[in-house]
Amino acid sequence: MIEKRKYMCPTCGTKTEVETNHWGEVYSGCKNCLAGILYCIEPIAIDERNGWDKILVKVEHYRINVSTEEGYADYKVIEDRNKHLVCAAFINPQFSTRMKEIGKRSEGLITLYKPTQWKGQYVSSIGRLHDWEETIYPNEAIKEGYYIDFLGNEIRV
Ligand SMILES: [Zn+2]
Repeated sequence: MIEKRKYMCPTCGTKTEVETNHWGEVYSGCKNCLAGILYCIEPIAIDERNGWDKILVKVEHYRINVSTEEGYADYKVIEDRNKHLVCAAFINPQFSTRMKEIGKRSEGLITLYKPTQWKGQYVSSIGRLHDWEETIYPNEAIKEGYYIDFLGNEIRV
């Protein structure tokens, strides 16, 4: 049955009502931060998510100017560390709005739910995440993104 249900943007917390016939994710997008996915916050949906396997991880956010020697060296460390991860690069300049929201909410630990069917992509407490995302700026000297520090936990697919 199609009903209005309460949904929330897991990235910035904006609440909205969505007409759906289920309690899963919807992809209508957040009007506030441009995250692509909203999570249902009706009790039945929260109970279901509470039953999923989950681990705590840390999201590391970076914004580096690689035109300086120091910045380039810092970026090489991140690149070398993450070379085994899937890197999803986003050209849409609006994506940096979402990146900033993730940066704000990533201080401390976040929850990753059981792996999804897509390599390097996770349902998390702050929205759908890739294990390494980077924004492509017109100014190629600016590198901004985040990567997931799995803290030794292995749930990668
Ligand atoms: Zn949002």
